[in-house]
Amino acid sequence: MYIHVAVPVPGLALLTYSVPEQLTRPVVGARVVVPLGSRIVTGIVMDDASASTIDDAVVKPIKEVLDAEAFVPSEVVALARWTAEYYAAGPGDTITSVLPPKARGARADAHKTMRVASITASGLETLQLVAPKPEAKAVGPQITTKQREALDLLAASPDGISTPQLAGRGIAADVVARLVRHGFVSIRQDRLDRDPFQTAMVQPPPADPDRQLTMEQAAAFERLRAMAESRRFQVVLLHGVTGSGKTELYLRLAAAVRESGRSVLMLVPEIALTPVVVSVFRHAFGDRVAIQHSGLSDGERHDQWQRIRRGDVDVVVGTRSAIFAPLERVGLIVVDEEHDASYKQEESPRYHGRDVAIIRGQRADALVVLGSATPSMESYHNATTGRYERVVLERRVLDRPLAAVTVVDMREEYAERGPDVILSQALGAAIAVRLERREQALVLLNRRGFATAVFCRQCAGTMDCPNCSVSLVVHGEGVSRRARCHYCNYTMRVPAACPHCAGPYLEQAGFGTERVEAEVRRLCPQARVARLDRDAIRRKGALAEILSRFRTGDIDVLVGTQMIAKGHDFPRVTLVGVVSADVGLGLADFRASERTFQLLTQVVGRAGRGDEPGEAIVQTIYPDHYSIQLARHQDYRAFFERELKFRQQMRYPPFQSLVNTVVRSQTFAGAMDDAADVVRRVREGAEAAGVRVLGPAPAPLGKLRGEYRAQLLTKGSNRTRMRGLLLSALAARPDLDKRIVVDVDPVSVL
Ligand code: ADP
Ligand code: ZN
Repeated sequence: MYIHVAVPVPGLALLTYSVPEQLTRPVVGARVVVPLGSRIVTGIVMDDASASTIDDAVVKPIKEVLDAEAFVPSEVVALARWTAEYYAAGPGDTITSVLPPKARGARADAHKTMRVASITASGLETLQLVAPKPEAKAVGPQITTKQREALDLLAASPDGISTPQLAGRGIAADVVARLVRHGFVSIRQDRLDRDPFQTAMVQPPPADPDRQLTMEQAAAFERLRAMAESRRFQVVLLHGVTGSGKTELYLRLAAAVRESGRSVLMLVPEIALTPVVVSVFRHAFGDRVAIQHSGLSDGERHDQWQRIRRGDVDVVVGTRSAIFAPLERVGLIVVDEEHDASYKQEESPRYHGRDVAIIRGQRADALVVLGSATPSMESYHNATTGRYERVVLERRVLDRPLAAVTVVDMREEYAERGPDVILSQALGAAIAVRLERREQALVLLNRRGFATAVFCRQCAGTMDCPNCSVSLVVHGEGVSRRARCHYCNYTMRVPAACPHCAGPYLEQAGFGTERVEAEVRRLCPQARVARLDRDAIRRKGALAEILSRFRTGDIDVLVGTQMIAKGHDFPRVTLVGVVSADVGLGLADFRASERTFQLLTQVVGRAGRGDEPGEAIVQTIYPDHYSIQLARHQDYRAFFERELKFRQQMRYPPFQSLVNTVVRSQTFAGAMDDAADVVRRVREGAEAAGVRVLGPAPAPLGKLRGEYRAQLLTKGSNRTRMRGLLLSALAARPDLDKRIVVDVDPVSVL
């Protein structure tokens, strides 16, 4: 018997092995231990390869079969195969996404580590030095170098180091045992808290579990339930304005599906930013819920994975990778905020969680619900052409009005008050009113940092990243000022003199969230202001803390990036300010308008979700841009129609599919030449296949982490053909393997 095996090693293709007579025949999804070069690794059986032509001389036998039954359910194995193929990714990358963290790694004893991990799930051994570190002389000859190393590590950690951490640094269990026997160290048993819900639940439980659905909700629910009960595959777009009560519908639908004996997958874009869903589900289904997302520790994730696999849960809430959860009998998959870009994985396999969800739903005869107030162009298009069903919620619950939006033309503001204005008079006054009324405000600027550039007034030189084609962003003020690259993290102090001409005339330009925060404080010294962006939440726990302080009213004004726009439900927010609606519009990306419209509509939708009506103030220098005008009226339909025309003219999705290919090289010419070569090869068969190739062109982000980037874009209506052309072009250039990225259905082409 021969089998195909996927090994969780990036870049690895499917491997073929033979199964020796004396071993049991492994089933699809079982783990097997196999030789790989000079190593021994654990992989997953993908299928029976006995039918393929095999060169017996080169095929090696497997060493061991670890599971009698599938470790990864066969439908998930099939989903992984589909993903690898569709996104032109290696089976190695893809199987890595599917496995729980502890089962990864290339060592044959990975399965043993896993067993140990589950046995010790409730306790963690931590080692501590008993006395000050024994002196080298006093230690005597029986101390080995490894033990010495361990003692040094422990001496540097007064709180001790856990055995897994020590193992991670190459200190094995026998070294530890000997040190304990020598009496140099003690072992402390710590309770290991692996309840990931504690950090995820910053939201109080829902007010009233028995509350009545609104009429609109009830009608929508009946339709959705009927679809779920048909037990046929269907995709439905749940298009509901912000605050229309979509979460309530997901919950009731999940309950109904669960009662019918099937399970539920609930995907959210970012768990930390959408705590409502997690807490609502946890509250309703208690122990029968598992949670899967990358914010959990490996141990937590592993535990959750095992619970799902054992069948201990029937509801899984998670981010995109949860679509591969080992859940069986799936009857419902919900993709909340389906338009969100974080569903797209920006590393191999570059899958879109929503699209994989649809494939999984199809194979499981499940209902797939895509929910959003601002659906993606693709999904709405599918709903209007009849491929998807459509359920609409046009009104907010309790007939709360949508926020009234005012657009402020910043060109007039600059003409009147000078070019340094950050908060318009209207926005400043509106914040002051909120403080007086003890209501809250959200202030959005989708750009981090204090200043976005530094330039010299004498020579016009700028401070750019040495590794990337972007300018450095200033963080902090005064002495703690640093200039940092947002792509590669290169950081330097902001010098007093210009690095180019040595003149003392360096100036900062542009502004980000830090500057806005400072400006709000300056304008309203009595206000309690906080900031929510990637920098502010570096510290573990900071995010939950900021959100809960805002919820309890400890913070009056929360300044932040798009993070503050995502799914939050803060009833006391009556004002949303957008400092610059233009941030995303200038990007050389065909989704720039769509993104801007979605972000504005979403953030405006955070206002007026409680008893008091909401107001939004949007500052822009393009007040007539359709993204801004239509977001102002929250007119999704008009935006969709307008944007659709542009997409049709330009042959962009949803009319044509795209594959973006980026080639990296040490030199600009090298990147362009290699990309040109690929273009030439793809063009050979392109016309016959109805495929158009654009490029080569320097990528909008022309240099990244020290490498130059050139791109080519393939457009066509048949993805299989496009992929085929590309893959055969690349097969002729194996030297490019490590320097090329193929992105099928890209979400961003920067
Ligand atoms: P969406 O996700 O559509 O923006 P949410 O699900 O967050 O909206 O609901 C908005 C608010 O309305 C939440 O506070 C929710 O608890 C509340 N809500 C939902 N349904 C009802 C209902 N039928 N009656 C009263 N309040 C409701
Ligand atoms: Zn950089």
